[in-house]
Amino acid sequence: MKLQEVLNDLERRFPNEPEYHQAVEEVLGSIEEVYNQHPEFEKANLIERLCIPDRIFSFRVTWIDDKGNVKVNMGYRIQHNNAIGPYKGGMRFHSSVNLSILKFLAFEQTFKNSLTTLPMGGGKGGSDFSPRGKSTAEIMRFCQAFILELWRYIGPDTDVPAGDIGVGGREVAYMYGMYKKLARENTGTFTGKGIEFGGSLIRPEATGYGNIYFLLEMLKTRNIDIKGKICSISGSGNVAQYTAEKLIELGAKVITLSDSDGYIYDPDGIDRKKLDIIMELKNLYRGRIREYAEQHNCKYVAGARPWGEKCDIALPSATQNEIDEDDAKTLIANGCIAVSEGANMPSTPGAIGVFQKAKILYAPGKASNAGGVATSGLEMTQNSMRLNWSREEVDDKLKSIMQNIHAQCVKYGKESGSYVNYVKGANVAGFMKVARAMMAQGIV
Ligand code: NDP
Repeated sequence: MKLQEVLNDLERRFPNEPEYHQAVEEVLGSIEEVYNQHPEFEKANLIERLCIPDRIFSFRVTWIDDKGNVKVNMGYRIQHNNAIGPYKGGMRFHSSVNLSILKFLAFEQTFKNSLTTLPMGGGKGGSDFSPRGKSTAEIMRFCQAFILELWRYIGPDTDVPAGDIGVGGREVAYMYGMYKKLARENTGTFTGKGIEFGGSLIRPEATGYGNIYFLLEMLKTRNIDIKGKICSISGSGNVAQYTAEKLIELGAKVITLSDSDGYIYDPDGIDRKKLDIIMELKNLYRGRIREYAEQHNCKYVAGARPWGEKCDIALPSATQNEIDEDDAKTLIANGCIAVSEGANMPSTPGAIGVFQKAKILYAPGKASNAGGVATSGLEMTQNSMRLNWSREEVDDKLKSIMQNIHAQCVKYGKESGSYVNYVKGANVAGFMKVARAMMAQGIV
């Protein structure tokens, strides 16, 4: 493989898809060496077959708002690669959603799912529909209209969607309800379902908790205790909330949370009581983080990200490219010792370069946030067995999966000295499993 040629070709064939190009470049950049050690991969043109999704569904979603207006959004599902199991990956509902973003997410998901050790391929989907400001009835009608188009192409052994930005338990439940009606089956073709109808305990917590379990493993390699560490989190959705919950439980101090309008800064630390208020504001009233600051006399900075506040550990948990090179330099200058990504691709390539040059502990999302999809995999297992595991059982399995992912990163990412390049480790480990599975199954 000649990396630059592959990238140039993808850019020519799929122009205007910068996030997709960015994700591909990051992975190919770290697997080039191991890829070139296997001439059989090149002969099978593995690289193109791995970068280009198996198929993409795109469709119009028509729904009616509360005032009777007919609305139209785009819907998508990317089935990227199913070499190791059914396509698996969340749905994102956000006004920014386009093919580039979903293709990057589906590509990343393929390697992430491979790392979990569970039999899941990679996929992703969503819509440019924004749930922000919509009534519950509008959200339900949208979810139903979306599934009316998509239901034929998903199923428990073909493609199993879940949540992502803008898609939580409420949206999954509406989509699953419509899916069941159309498909006339009850086999769990969605994960992140409610606990009463096939959901798994710990699934809501899994991405945030998993990120902290991964962080603990990284800290262990340098004998650092999490207790008392000052932590900065971005976002205030599912991932951010449970990242904060686990950190608080472990005695760390969470000083920031954010949404797309700005961030809050609490030097005394967001404790359990404050987090409960924020969770109620976000999950029940669907409010803005600004409202918390106004009601609880806390600093709020509009239109900014939290990376300028001094912290020991940064946990980006909102969206892609939310830490740029300058943010990364600021974090390092302020003494940050670790960055563990809850979001997908939150650090730009420039930012990653800064973290790696400074040799801090840096975990890419495809490793550190894999706990969410791993627990989705556990939900699929429970659905197939028609059984429910206890909270402790699922949490223990999640912990050991995150430890295993960390061990794979160390195995493939160890560089001179004792430095672990987690980007390389995650990419090589994730890639090799998918590559072997594809080779074994022939040219399909
Ligand atoms: P939520 O919708 O629950 O929360 C997203 C949070 O990020 C909100 O606070 C939102 O603010 C903020 N946000 C979204 N878009 C932007 C933006 N463009 N700029 C600034 N802030 C933004 O989503 P999740 O918590 O589920 O997902 C967060 C990240 O974690 C995503 O990158 C997702 O892909 C990743 N992830 C999620 C998993 C899961 O299990 N849910 C699994 C693995 C990764 P606002 O309310 O203003 O939009």
